[in-house]
Amino acid sequence: MSETILEIEHLSKEFKEKKSSQVVKAVSDISFSLRKGETLSLVGESGCGKTTLGRCIVRGIESTAGHVYFYGSGARKVDFLTLKSRAYKEVRPDIQMIFQDPYSSLNPRMTVFDIISEPLRAMKRFSKQDIEDRVKNIARKTGLNVSYLKRYPHSFSGGQRQRIGIARALVTEPKIIVCDEAVSALDVSIQAQIINLLKDLQEEFNVTYLFISHDLSVVEHISDRVAVMYLGEIIELANTNDLYERPMHPYTEALLSAVPKANPDLKTNRKVLTGEVPNPANRPSGCHFHPRCAYRTEKCEHVAPTLTEIEDGRSVSCHYANELKLQGVFQ
Ligand code: SF4
Repeated sequence: MSETILEIEHLSKEFKEKKSSQVVKAVSDISFSLRKGETLSLVGESGCGKTTLGRCIVRGIESTAGHVYFYGSGARKVDFLTLKSRAYKEVRPDIQMIFQDPYSSLNPRMTVFDIISEPLRAMKRFSKQDIEDRVKNIARKTGLNVSYLKRYPHSFSGGQRQRIGIARALVTEPKIIVCDEAVSALDVSIQAQIINLLKDLQEEFNVTYLFISHDLSVVEHISDRVAVMYLGEIIELANTNDLYERPMHPYTEALLSAVPKANPDLKTNRKVLTGEVPNPANRPSGCHFHPRCAYRTEKCEHVAPTLTEIEDGRSVSCHYANELKLQGVFQ
């Protein structure tokens, strides 16, 4: 599971606010890589830039700077963001996305068959029969009855619609899927079914997931690694167990303290996050988290920490990462 499939390097996305003309750094100089077959989750509060980052990676929106290197067949490395016409069409089927809202992400005027087959038709590589066989096959694997293919999205429940979205993303047999809040709009019991389905499909297709979510209790069940984002930057990146057991950034600790405990008798000192996420157009000086941090010092107000590898496979952006003894969820 150590082979790199995608390398994000210094990726940034800036917007200009219409009213004030201020520059908003939605994604700021982000670098990390994805390994073949793993699930890396991006977590953080609403507005932290995780969805913007996901969209930049799949070229749903244009990045301001940076690279997204994809390792294709024969470990050929290409910058996905700069690929043009033919080269882009060749690589595009390998990088797919599952959207947040199964209600609005499916075209209500298209049948389920047309929705799922659309990416295959765009590839212009397959015969009509091939397309039909592939769509039926992926429908079965995602738990959709083949008889549903003639119907329209409105006749399905939220969970079934998300299965249609998953089938559409998987039908080209991609190497990477960006799942943008893929289960957030679903009931808890349906969430569990979709998570299990995603895990099964990952095992079968050896697909890599970049799983974007604000919900740390969901992320725990699907991720190999977790990257925590705050104000457009990654502030902690670690293996899931390490991060949940022993967070090293105060923001991670605060997010984890809000996760419901499996054992309600476990006593914890809940670190309630105070204040709102600051305006990304006017980020606080020094450590951007300092106005909300219970451990801040004067240094934090003036000097910005950088994301630094503290242990093997673990990076943290905090001046005191090695000194603070923070609380995880399993303690
Ligand atoms: Fe808190 Fe300071 Fe660490 Fe920022 S650098 S997270 S303000 S202790």
